Amino acid sequence: MTLLEKAGAVNAHTHLYSGLVPFDLPFQIPPTLPFPDILKTLWWRLDRALTPDILSAAARYYVGQALLYGTTTLVDHHESPTMIAGSLDILASACADLGIRAVLCYGVTERNFGREEAQAGLAECQRFLQTRPTGKIRGAVGVHAGFTVSDQTLTDAGNLARQFQVPVHIHAAEDTCDVDDARRRGDAGLLARFIRTRALSEGSILAHGVHLTNDEVRECDRLGMWLVNNPRSNENNRVGYAAALAKSRRVALGTDGFPSDMEAEKTCLAEQIKGADGIVVNPEVRLAAGRQIVRQIFGEKVLLSDRVIMRESPEGREVTAVEIGGERVVENGSLVYATWQSLVADAKRAAHVLWARMEDVQ
Ligand SMILES: [Zn+2]
Repeated sequence: MTLLEKAGAVNAHTHLYSGLVPFDLPFQIPPTLPFPDILKTLWWRLDRALTPDILSAAARYYVGQALLYGTTTLVDHHESPTMIAGSLDILASACADLGIRAVLCYGVTERNFGREEAQAGLAECQRFLQTRPTGKIRGAVGVHAGFTVSDQTLTDAGNLARQFQVPVHIHAAEDTCDVDDARRRGDAGLLARFIRTRALSEGSILAHGVHLTNDEVRECDRLGMWLVNNPRSNENNRVGYAAALAKSRRVALGTDGFPSDMEAEKTCLAEQIKGADGIVVNPEVRLAAGRQIVRQIFGEKVLLSDRVIMRESPEGREVTAVEIGGERVVENGSLVYATWQSLVADAKRAAHVLWARMEDVQ
């Protein structure tokens, strides 16, 4: 048996609110369902059925599991359209209680209640940023995606992010519907729309980029924007392989709501590369890029303070200890600030309530 020390893994795009999905999600996605319908029949019903208790249980379960996988930072993107105000505090408590490092934002959208909904989302980002989150918890300005917001909302999001000097965190070109929408509005492409509306701040985080062009990806690199590749999610939603991302040096790895097992995400990416001719991508480099996002947001010093001790034996590797910001949060393979059993029990209970509530959401 050997002990190995590694830098903590960074999950550069995820959704704590979907933490209960492993508990027997009763909604099956037919294999032919187009991506916009997957959003409508599953994710946009789930996010409207959330309550404070359900969100807290989902987040605590997701965070606890992330720590046990050796993930030390989560870059989260949150939406709960029927419970916007205060929702980021619920996530911040879950993260702070268990000791993980996190970047939190509310994903502004107009898809349910129009511009008023966007204003409530922007207000939640602003309220949270005004609390001056420090230490292991920081804030960003979230936007769901270009195709669910007006130009004015994009501009407002960019302005708010510039005011607080934080990144914008947005889904970008996950599916062709996002690109088609930008063209229908008269822009040459999605990035052109973001630039025209000044939607992005320095170091903004664009999740997916599956249908960005090679030139758009190069331009994101030149502008200092981050792209986040989510291989398991892209496969699951059948939106395509993000081949153009190879044109940027600033591409990190995220799980987009899948459990925060970054080794599994790397393995999935490696499989996808095998099937994509002429694409040279190193999954390890993508995982390491997430640490540069952490450096941008939290400062240089934290890169040394987040580490994972693993035990290697013929049976494989397992995480035995995790230290974040110099604080032990996993010891002897167990969480320090909660028991795994209690997180699972609370999550199971909350999942049962959530699935019932989703039946009533149209
Ligand atoms: Zn996402």
